[in-house]
Amino acid sequence: MTFKASVLTLYPQMFPGSLGHSLAGRALQRNDWSLDVVQIRDFATDKHRTVDDTPAGGGAGMVLRADVLGRAIDHTSSKGDTRPRLLMSPRGKPLTQNRVRDLATGAGIVIVCGRFEGVDQRVIEGRDLEEVSIGDYILSGGEVAANVVLDAIIRLLPGVMGNEVSGKFESFENNLLEHPHYTRPAEWEGRRIPEILTSGDHSRVAQWQREQAEELTRKRRPDLIDDDG
Ligand code: SAH
Repeated sequence: MTFKASVLTLYPQMFPGSLGHSLAGRALQRNDWSLDVVQIRDFATDKHRTVDDTPAGGGAGMVLRADVLGRAIDHTSSKGDTRPRLLMSPRGKPLTQNRVRDLATGAGIVIVCGRFEGVDQRVIEGRDLEEVSIGDYILSGGEVAANVVLDAIIRLLPGVMGNEVSGKFESFENNLLEHPHYTRPAEWEGRRIPEILTSGDHSRVAQWQREQAEELTRKRRPDLIDDDG
């Protein structure tokens, strides 16, 4: 089944961008996912095709108009569309691997990319947009954030990752960061691969990896240990 992604943006030429290459790009060619990129400006009605205006109450910057964005959303996602509608926004709920996994099991996604100071609050409420953030920093627009969301989802779609197993032991599964990796050569600049990894004893290897993951998580991300988000 094809996972249907629709992206609403003022910069359609930014897509598929990185998603046109490697795993995601091959999956797009195979039709494991589809991408519909909508130019928000096409839904402006004045002769200058204006999409933004000054903020009510004053202040710096511009705001994406509710009427223009509302029409773009209605065109892209009609009433019967069950796909979740996300608005990329630094005020949103931070994206987690759990949420990504959940989105990857659905029929698709509609993503609105903000620009300027953001979008008129009424369209967020009137069109049930779920605000999602990719981290506590400010980007110049939602396009890169939309790419992040899509990349994380696409690699989880059935058949996309060559080695299915590799998804199962990764960082954030079981709320742990992943253990360190090594490969040949056995020695590099005087540093050797930990002996246990070349012992061939699979259960000791598994135990070592688990301990490393736990130690790393305790040191770097203690917040993950008692977080189920
Ligand atoms: N004035 C806003 C920031 C606007 S940045 C504020 O202070 O909250 C312009 C657009 O970039 C936003 O509308 C959003 O779509 C996108 N964006 C910026 N930072 C983001 C982040 N951390 N996560 C997701 N989207 C982000």
